[in-house]
Amino acid sequence: MIIDAHCDVLLKIWERNISFFDSEELQVNYVNWKKSPVKVQCFAIFVPEEVPEERQFHSALEMVNIFYKKIIDPYPDIKMIRSKEDILSLKEQEKGAILTLEGCHSIGRDISKMETFIQLGVKAVGLTWNQSNAVADGILEKRGAGVSSFGEEIIDLLNKAKVWTDLSHISYKGFFDAVELADYPMASHSNAKKLASHPRNLDDRQIHKLIEKNGWIGVTFEPDFIKDGPNPSYKDVFYHIDYFLQMGAEKCLGFGSDFDGTTGPTLRLNNQLDYDYLLDGLPHFCSREQIEYITHRNFIEKFPD
Ligand SMILES: [Zn+2]
Repeated sequence: MIIDAHCDVLLKIWERNISFFDSEELQVNYVNWKKSPVKVQCFAIFVPEEVPEERQFHSALEMVNIFYKKIIDPYPDIKMIRSKEDILSLKEQEKGAILTLEGCHSIGRDISKMETFIQLGVKAVGLTWNQSNAVADGILEKRGAGVSSFGEEIIDLLNKAKVWTDLSHISYKGFFDAVELADYPMASHSNAKKLASHPRNLDDRQIHKLIEKNGWIGVTFEPDFIKDGPNPSYKDVFYHIDYFLQMGAEKCLGFGSDFDGTTGPTLRLNNQLDYDYLLDGLPHFCSREQIEYITHRNFIEKFPD
């Protein structure tokens, strides 16, 4: 059983109006999901930066609509997950879907828009994408500022509402500001910077901090995050897992594939079915107990409830 903390299916369906059922353009679709070991999948609302500011909240709500209309409502065996209990009570044939938000740009400076997202079922909120917004700077904003006063209000709201604060994409300074404030910090799709130098990957100081703060880290399959050189493969994912384990992250680790959001192929990690390759290889790198923690147990135990 796998829990995957990040995919961009909602964006692809929103952009291309394709079918969730079996579209070959999707790395996560219903047919593959049913056959795969993924039990719970997170679906991110992500509004591209090209969307004009005044349309962003509206576009985000359109993606919420897609989540309910195309993923939850048509399939009796897909259950919306809002609590730990919802995960634990999934039946054998059922799958769980979690709604998340990637980047707070779509709320502007309006905290009530965040309240709306939470009421609609959002369980993890990425404070930024790569650019800056009213909450904090993203990792590619040159200014590199931390969390704003408005951002502090947002994190406070997330804590009270028992929602994860997702630090993948935030600026380096913002990371350390936010990780101190958040009751439920996570980095839903980031790898180890020691093994791949992408700016979105976590350095040792960040990894230590997430461990210290009882956070959660999702190993991701984006080629640039896996390896600096050519031909990234599923095998390289094991090195990241091994590295995180050496750092002491065994109770913080999981997966956040970024399926349907990645920029290129990673050998044998083309869709949810390919988690089987990881499950086959993991016993060479971790104990049975560690596999249980990494594949799902850490996510469930830390799920804000
Ligand atoms: Zn992302």
